Amino acid sequence: KVLTDADYQPARLLTILRALQAEYQHIPIDAIDILADALNIPRTQIIAVVEFYSFLHLTPQGRYDILISDSITDRMQGKENLLGYLSSALKVKAGQVRDDGLVSLNNTSCTGMCDQGPAGLVNGHALTKLDRPRIDEIAALVEQQKPLGEWPPHLFAVDDNIYKAGLLLNGPIENGAAIQATYTRGINNTLEELDRAGLRGRGGAGFKTAMKWRFCAEEPSEQHFVVCNADEGEPGTFKDRVLLNSHAEQVFEGMTIAAAIIGANQGFLYLRGEYLHIFDKLQAILQQRRNAGLLGANILGQGLDFDIEIRLGAGAYICGEESALIESMEGKPGIPRNRPPYPVTSGYLNQPTVVNNVETFLAVAKIAIEGGDWFASFGTEKSAGSKILSICGDCSRPGIYEYPFGVSIEQILADCGASNVLGIQVGGPSGTFISNQEFNRQLAFEDLATGGSFIIFNNSRNILEIVQNFTHFFAHESCGFCTPCRVGTALLKKQLDKIIEGHGSAGDVVELESLCQLVKSNSHCGLGQTAANPILSTLQRYPDVYEKQLKSISYEPGFDLDGSLEIARRMAHRDDAAAHLSQVED
Ligand code: SF4
Repeated sequence: KVLTDADYQPARLLTILRALQAEYQHIPIDAIDILADALNIPRTQIIAVVEFYSFLHLTPQGRYDILISDSITDRMQGKENLLGYLSSALKVKAGQVRDDGLVSLNNTSCTGMCDQGPAGLVNGHALTKLDRPRIDEIAALVEQQKPLGEWPPHLFAVDDNIYKAGLLLNGPIENGAAIQATYTRGINNTLEELDRAGLRGRGGAGFKTAMKWRFCAEEPSEQHFVVCNADEGEPGTFKDRVLLNSHAEQVFEGMTIAAAIIGANQGFLYLRGEYLHIFDKLQAILQQRRNAGLLGANILGQGLDFDIEIRLGAGAYICGEESALIESMEGKPGIPRNRPPYPVTSGYLNQPTVVNNVETFLAVAKIAIEGGDWFASFGTEKSAGSKILSICGDCSRPGIYEYPFGVSIEQILADCGASNVLGIQVGGPSGTFISNQEFNRQLAFEDLATGGSFIIFNNSRNILEIVQNFTHFFAHESCGFCTPCRVGTALLKKQLDKIIEGHGSAGDVVELESLCQLVKSNSHCGLGQTAANPILSTLQRYPDVYEKQLKSISYEPGFDLDGSLEIARRMAHRDDAAAHLSQVED
């Protein structure tokens, strides 16, 4: 009932499946058959899509489907206890659907609420600041079968928590001002300004924005596309949520400037499924922009026809990788493509496509107004401008902070109220763990680069628990396409668990490290190439922490073969020395 005729096209398969999931709590097989005929795609392709995305299911979930975020920060805030409490209150185990079909409960990867966790989702809608009173409230509402629309709003309240605004967040720009400035200056001159600004992509990789857009503009094709990547799934990152909640106009303005430069008529905002709570607001803003002549035909009378469509993800971290995101936008599983060709030459529907991060488009709009020199006058030589950080973990003011590049880690810690700090995960699990001996380092592409995640751990935290959470995360989120990552991340998880559980030996640590190198060097995309970073960076800084876990320096098998034969020995009434097996190192 929420779909229109226009939605029935293969590229909108995810939109259709999300609507079916919301209506029936799963994707009925009958619906798959109908869709296969209507969209003229194989039913196996539809099933592959359903199985790929964690928010879609072939078997029914509860009418209230509750997911609890399993990010490290949620764990630090007592998530495990709360999950157990919720499970008892609702009489359903995690990973199961209650017999009466009313409710299902499970874990999910980070929901982008690390500044206000423990967090979760109910039927895709964000729940924040969970504690026992809130869980009692939720359990009662479920038992009363209250429609979500009648639940108290405080359960769904999401705060921006902007504590430090800088170049980009200070003073909103007037609607249309950046587009007008672009046309006043001229399209080519605006591209020159972006070059002078030295703006680099804010997703983490740091490719020069002007160069990317120039490549795309020069690619001969009837159609070009602009895509804003708002699929920030890196645990500890939530800045795009805030930018889109409070600065969406500026982001859309940046996308429109990109369209003018590369010659695109269509843009997309790929919004992570966890941010469903801002979907309607963003749709309304887009409509207001159409009404104001800032989107649609002949924008500001300058001859540019351009519109933006929002595509919602469905719970797959890998879709933050730009080529996986494009696959997902085409209604397929989000499996990263072989590159080259890069999206600028062959992206969405194999047409030249610019994919940039939310923060990058935000910066473009400001540069279009203020000029490249203004932007380049902040930051460092190789990292112009500012960086917006999502800061969370052990600090008294978790939230959004914007700094000129080059700021010291010490300064950031002082601002957010962190003390007794053990270390920081900069750039999320795929980034770098720095110890408290490195706080004089600076935030910049030439030193510590980050897409925006900054998780602080104090001295009470166990490093191995942190690494274990991150390693499990990667094993869970591997898309399974290539063997080094699919098998490698599972082996990393197993090997690390063995050491943490006290069954490891020195040989196991050596094996763990070589496995890390193997996964890093042979994986197809960034997920696999960085999945071992948490282990490698902590092994390097805290070898003693790993050593303390070792049971013996000789080989210790993870599987207790002799212990497993206990039942057989009892059945055979035999417990002499010869009936025991010993496992020794060769
Ligand atoms: Fe998929 Fe991992 Fe291979 Fe990337 S590295 S393609 S996430 S299996």
